[in-house]
Amino acid sequence: MTQACTAPTGKIMLVGLGPGSHDYLTGRARAAIAEADTVIGYATYIRLVKELLDGKEVIKKAMTEELDRAIEAYDRAKQGKKVALISSGDAGVYGMAGPTFEVLFQAGWTPDSGIEVEIIPGASAINTCASLVGAPLTHDFCAISLSDLLTPWPTIARRLDAVAYSDFVVALYNPKSGRRTRQIQEAQRIFLRHRDPNTPVAIVKSAFRAKQRIEFTTLEKMLEADIGMLSTVLIGNSNTFVKHGLMITPRGYANKYDVEIGNSAARDGEKAGVSLSTGLNGWLAAIHAAHADGQSPAELAKAYRLPEDYIAAVLNEPLDIDTDEAAEESAEA
Ligand code: SAH
Repeated sequence: MTQACTAPTGKIMLVGLGPGSHDYLTGRARAAIAEADTVIGYATYIRLVKELLDGKEVIKKAMTEELDRAIEAYDRAKQGKKVALISSGDAGVYGMAGPTFEVLFQAGWTPDSGIEVEIIPGASAINTCASLVGAPLTHDFCAISLSDLLTPWPTIARRLDAVAYSDFVVALYNPKSGRRTRQIQEAQRIFLRHRDPNTPVAIVKSAFRAKQRIEFTTLEKMLEADIGMLSTVLIGNSNTFVKHGLMITPRGYANKYDVEIGNSAARDGEKAGVSLSTGLNGWLAAIHAAHADGQSPAELAKAYRLPEDYIAAVLNEPLDIDTDEAAEESAEA
């Protein structure tokens, strides 16, 4: 290795601790903490790894001091120290990774400046909470934080509305705190505009920690549940069900909206390992045929719940489907 200067080079490690139990702390996260001269994090996270901190400088910070923490980490790294900034779950999911890079960029840091930054992934609450309730994430899902400390409410509300309408499974992070109690009520209200009141909801509090608590409820009744700062709220999609105490989202989706399956003859015609007849190619063929039969883009837009300009644009292009290629396409395992 060739190095121009021999000064010790510092390092910042952004460590995701996973949910809190040492069983779910990765080997690399453990090694990074062992390697660190300084460990910085919220008091709660410091407590979670206290057995690993002997002989290290430990800096506890309060909730509002994220940027200070990043600055402190950078100062120490410039002195040649190795610093672990610890976050629960994954450091890049509503965690310290973003603010740290913002501070570093502002201070003129670049990736080749001699101070290495390593991101060590951890299992985020969406994964760990899902694992405790069954298999709720087996179809498309997303995460929304209800914290309006740094995000305007209209942005949050618009995202809630979009995912409720589009039928994602959603994990709500930061659903409620002592002071923020109305956000979860508004989230429920927005969801109920689009979703069945009986949609399954699971609330996981303190996953893989001493006070772990799991509650199953429904969209309609979710406000009666015990929800706090350490809870993640998982809302199913229109196919999600609860059976034997397990929340399951099926991988197949074609059986929900009649319009999306065409008719039962089409379903009989499905082949294993090939895109659905209502997959892209089948759907293109269907809308071209319907259009040729006299259906307008506006009618098709309404039937498929898609924007009219999208339908119009697609209908404007020639139907150019290579059926051999379509037949060879295989679905993901
Ligand atoms: N970086 C973290 C998220 C920090 S935001 C991660 O990747 O998981 C804090 C929110 O995360 C909490 O309000 C809660 O919604 C969720 N959360 C974090 N740890 C949790 C746990 N052990 N059980 C349930 N939810 C948790």
